[in-house]
Amino acid sequence: MSSPDQTTPHPDTIAAHAGVAPDPANGAMTAALQLSTTFEHTADAQTPLGFLYQRQDNPNQQQLESVLARLDGGARTLFFATGMAAGAAVLQALPPGSHLVIADDTYFGYRALITRFLAPHGLRHTVVDATNLDAVRTALATTTTLLWVETPSNPRLKVCDLAALATLAREAGARLLVDGTFAPPPLQRPLAFGADIVLHSTTKYLNGHGDAMGGALTFASDDDLAIACYDVRRMFGSSASPFAAWMTLRGLRTLPVRLERHGANAAAVAGFLAAHPRVMAVHYPGLESHPGHAVAARQMRGYGGMLSFEVHGGRDAALATAQRMRLFTNATSLGSTESLVEHRASIEGADSVSPAGLLRLSVGLEHVQDLIDDLAQALDQ
Ligand code: PLP
Repeated sequence: MSSPDQTTPHPDTIAAHAGVAPDPANGAMTAALQLSTTFEHTADAQTPLGFLYQRQDNPNQQQLESVLARLDGGARTLFFATGMAAGAAVLQALPPGSHLVIADDTYFGYRALITRFLAPHGLRHTVVDATNLDAVRTALATTTTLLWVETPSNPRLKVCDLAALATLAREAGARLLVDGTFAPPPLQRPLAFGADIVLHSTTKYLNGHGDAMGGALTFASDDDLAIACYDVRRMFGSSASPFAAWMTLRGLRTLPVRLERHGANAAAVAGFLAAHPRVMAVHYPGLESHPGHAVAARQMRGYGGMLSFEVHGGRDAALATAQRMRLFTNATSLGSTESLVEHRASIEGADSVSPAGLLRLSVGLEHVQDLIDDLAQALDQ
């Protein structure tokens, strides 16, 4: 494959060079960590070098934001302390009394945030199955300002049609936000399909090593909502530390390579599970039997490292299977080098809509045969 032109390198090249440039002061190749909380300004508070106070902007954060904006193909990226903080900033920046349409299988934390904390302040919302375009069309009202979807979704790996949803949102005068945490760039680039905002929990694949929290919003244009989200970050203090930005930029340099291995391992694991007699269903968009396979093939470059499956025997059988796993650790989160398993209904609690027999896997970078052997021993007992 060749690059479209000399000035637009492939995402793999952008990632490999993230934060890498000889420092004019000493020739160091990797970006320095700048922890200063404050920056010199003129007597009348002008900032000739562009930085005033760490809570607003800082060099490490700006480096990360510019790389992520390029990878997402957006006009501007804002980095936050967590994925929750990034999502909350969008909701806080919406005009008072806004109506939001949100997909049914979005990350449960956002649904709790909306119903428990923001609905009492006037944010109205409708939950839809975003794979059903007629249902989305019906749910979009004249007062809807935002359509919020996640693809593939957590934890059922539902895939929704980004181009079709972008058209529906535009016709209704709403913006489309896509939580792309399960499929970061270059795997999926929602802005190229007409989305207005991409949301990432960078805690997951973008950092990729399970050791730095973060969230990001990439905007297709540097519009009023982007500016409002910047203000929310500044005023609510939801900025990340420069160290988190530095760690995330470092992780990002290997992102495309890691995603290839995550995807290859997950595809093999999904194939193994789909053929296992104790497994009732496998949710992985790379399987031809997945209802969203054709859409995923159109809008993704590979199918990612996340999958979930349901065992015969419901909750007890799922818990026993998870308990027997040795290489897959029972732990929350995803997108790190090591494989994780989680019984989502247990972690999501009383409001969970996840099937009782469902286990979610974050398939890591181990040798795939070791992963399959572990699943086999856990399922076969
Ligand atoms: N979006 C998705 C799909 C997630 O799975 C998560 C967390 O698990 C989040 C957002 C929230 O991100 P964070 O944990 O960084 O706040």
